Amino acid sequence: MAETLKSLDELVSLCKRRGFIFQSSDIYGGLASCYDYGPLGVELKRNVKNAWWKSVVQMRDDMVGLDCSILMHPMVWKSSGHVDKFADLVAECKKCNTRTRVDHLQGTEGAETTHHSHGEEQEHTDLSGKVCPSCGTTGQFTNPMPFKLMFETQMGANVEDSMKVYLRPETAQGIFANFRNVMDSTRIKVPFGIAQVGKSFRNEVTTKAFIFRTREFEQMEIEFFCQPGTDEQWWEHWKEQRMQWYLDLGIRRENLKFRPHASDELAHYAKACVDIEYRFPFGQGDWQELEGIANRTDYDLRQHQRGMRSVTKWFESGRNTEKTSLVEEPEDWHKGPLSFFDDEARERYIPYVIEPSAGADRGTLAFLVDAYAEEEVRGEKRNVLRFHPKLAPIKVGVFPLVKKEGMPERAKAIYNDLRGYFSCFYDEKSAVGRRYRRQDEAGTPYCVTVDGQTAEDNTVTLRDRDSMEQTRVSCDKLLGLLREKLDM
Ligand code: ATP
Repeated sequence: MAETLKSLDELVSLCKRRGFIFQSSDIYGGLASCYDYGPLGVELKRNVKNAWWKSVVQMRDDMVGLDCSILMHPMVWKSSGHVDKFADLVAECKKCNTRTRVDHLQGTEGAETTHHSHGEEQEHTDLSGKVCPSCGTTGQFTNPMPFKLMFETQMGANVEDSMKVYLRPETAQGIFANFRNVMDSTRIKVPFGIAQVGKSFRNEVTTKAFIFRTREFEQMEIEFFCQPGTDEQWWEHWKEQRMQWYLDLGIRRENLKFRPHASDELAHYAKACVDIEYRFPFGQGDWQELEGIANRTDYDLRQHQRGMRSVTKWFESGRNTEKTSLVEEPEDWHKGPLSFFDDEARERYIPYVIEPSAGADRGTLAFLVDAYAEEEVRGEKRNVLRFHPKLAPIKVGVFPLVKKEGMPERAKAIYNDLRGYFSCFYDEKSAVGRRYRRQDEAGTPYCVTVDGQTAEDNTVTLRDRDSMEQTRVSCDKLLGLLREKLDM
């Protein structure tokens, strides 16, 4: 019987040993909460992003893609609310001076909140029953204070044109800022969505848990624009679509669930939000967010209409984004520059937005955790990553049984043929059994071995990662068979 992952440490060590994920700046002692993807990891994460892109952009008529700059006009973040509100409420333990997010504190009494609400919590939360996760002391916290999450930097070399800009804390706002451009440059009509994959940065208070929560991470976000009144239907649609995506890529149903947000947890503008949660083997309670699907109403586009009209004020303030306040919304806001004229409904409106927002790194971690298995095979331990073939970093391992009798040449020829179709790995070192184990640990679904019989009848063995069964296949049929099995 296969064992699944019991602790994150096992996975962290496999990831390092096999080149999936390394600590950033490892040779300098590491940089907290920053990670690098190694040779296998970069393939895995790219496959996750490609599978997402294929499902939400390539396979749909109502979606287009976008790739925005990480640095944007600072007023973008004023309009979105991030400059004023994107902060976590933190409390410091008076004993050990560790700061912890108030919504992450556990204990017996006091208000229970579970997720980010970005500075919108009460600052008078009762922490008397809460326990410091660092030293275990109960109820010895300072008053909660907001901790800003956006990274700031300086742009421009000269004093007169230099200004404070932000590393984006989400990719979403780049989509809103390009809503008009996309509408004007394509013939797409509401309902439609814009999808983007890219880096985001948050100066998180607490990180830990490997790549689950880091300060630099990648998001896969969709803003889906629809007619007000149809938003609830579209929200249901995206809920189902996004859950199905994880299931189709092999995550076990029992490890996934929806968690609807309680009304006091919702951002003031959001009409509804549900998280897709995965049962991770760590953390405060195992269930943790993979992706949020929110009904953001017309809030963001309306805010950007205000922001666009406030740019003069921003110049007048000496380009001080914090000090600039947004102008009031005019009465005819629904006819503003970010409105849409609906030919069919014969009306102009600001579309409502459904936002499925996923983390590429967090998703990658879930795929790794779910794929991990430990088995006993003939008295020996076997580690295997049972990735869905679409996600596997290497699709096919190609080996000569031994390094003689023309086997390496034959195997190389097969390898060169197959690598034009999928990522392959050629290996002729050590005993073939060990080579299989190494591919099992990398999650490679199939291995092809050239042996003595190959020269006689032009067949090879095809070994299946999960069943470990080997079948003889004619070389002429190999490519077709693999394409069918791998569905690519
Ligand atoms: P949390 O409350 O856990 O901090 P959030 O609800 O603020 O997260 P969102 O702003 O909804 O998260 O971000 C959307 C998605 O982006 C998340 O579901 C997650 O997959 C990913 N994400 C957010 N922050 C991080 C991070 N620090 N590291 C890795 N992924 C992240």
